[in-house]
Amino acid sequence: MGAFSSNLRAFRALVGTGTRIMAVLKADAYGHGAEALAPVAIQAGSDAIGVSSIEEGRALREAGVNAPILLLGGIFPLENFSAALDARLTPTVASLESAQKLAEIAAKTGRPAPFHLKIDTGMGRLGVSPAGARDVLTWVAGQRTLRLAGVYSHFASADSDFEFTAHQIAEFTAVRDFAKSLGFPETIFHIANSSAALTSPAARFDMIRPGIALYGAPSVPLPTGTTLQPVLTWRTKIVFIKRVPTGTSISYGRKFRADREMEVATLPVGYGDGVPRAMFGKAQVLVKGIRRPMLGVVTMDHVMIDVTGAGVDVGEDVVLIGRQGGAEITASDWAGWAGTIPYEIFCGISKRVPREVVA
Ligand SMILES: *Cc1c(COP(=O)(O)O)cnc(C)c1O
Repeated sequence: MGAFSSNLRAFRALVGTGTRIMAVLKADAYGHGAEALAPVAIQAGSDAIGVSSIEEGRALREAGVNAPILLLGGIFPLENFSAALDARLTPTVASLESAQKLAEIAAKTGRPAPFHLKIDTGMGRLGVSPAGARDVLTWVAGQRTLRLAGVYSHFASADSDFEFTAHQIAEFTAVRDFAKSLGFPETIFHIANSSAALTSPAARFDMIRPGIALYGAPSVPLPTGTTLQPVLTWRTKIVFIKRVPTGTSISYGRKFRADREMEVATLPVGYGDGVPRAMFGKAQVLVKGIRRPMLGVVTMDHVMIDVTGAGVDVGEDVVLIGRQGGAEITASDWAGWAGTIPYEIFCGISKRVPREVVA
């Protein structure tokens, strides 16, 4: 079974059948390729898909994805609710004004518009305040052209601050209880990203929305019995090799100088492909299952590596992220070298890097 399927099934085993799963495939499935992964997610038991924008949702519809798709981003301008509904994408409503606009647009279509209401319980990004949510819910309860399919929120620090996470859960629970007091028997409530879904059963409510952990790069220790596998391998090949004498400088700014005779290989990837320049002096790659250092600064289209004594030639396979032999380099290693998080590493792999689906 492919790693992505296996990770999704691991979440299913963790949360049981009573909790829905929305696989988060925004930003082209964190750079992995959303059109390829959406059918895999559904096949492996995901109930719905989350993306950010209308464009992302529409691309999945055009690729034949039939499952519910929630647009996690804000709709702007509000007229764009029409485009979302036309593509059977479920929009997020994050203010009374946007609920009213959606109702007006839905009235013209003659069909109730499904939507999810977003509550800001502490992320400070998108959503009505818990107090404001009461007004919106009360108003929505009287509307025939609207169908409140879900109410949700998002954690700010589910991987690091369990007290604040508990506070957000409490705020969200109060909104849920208020909504239930008005009716809404079909509405689902959800707040958990990967970290919360993995660490806090109380955060799971009716549905979880894992993203990063589905790609095998969780930010929290896994519960006993749960294993996740990295989904992506990034490979390249050596395109040029040279033997250089002591004192030779490598790459822009001449920041690396050979302190001995070396064999230096050139790889056809650079920051134009998503190799962060910030990894200078720290990054390694795998050649014949052994870690080899990158030499000199990352250029737009190339990086150089030390292959002294490796016995390799042009055409040799190099693993940038993934396993080779008994060794492994992960997106977390990259994030550590570049001073960022695996999310940004994945999303940074640019369009010109060909994706190949292997399972
Ligand atoms: C990105 C995102 C998620 C997934 O978060 P992970 O940390 O990748 O699991 C869930 N919900 C919303 C609203 C998001 O924007």
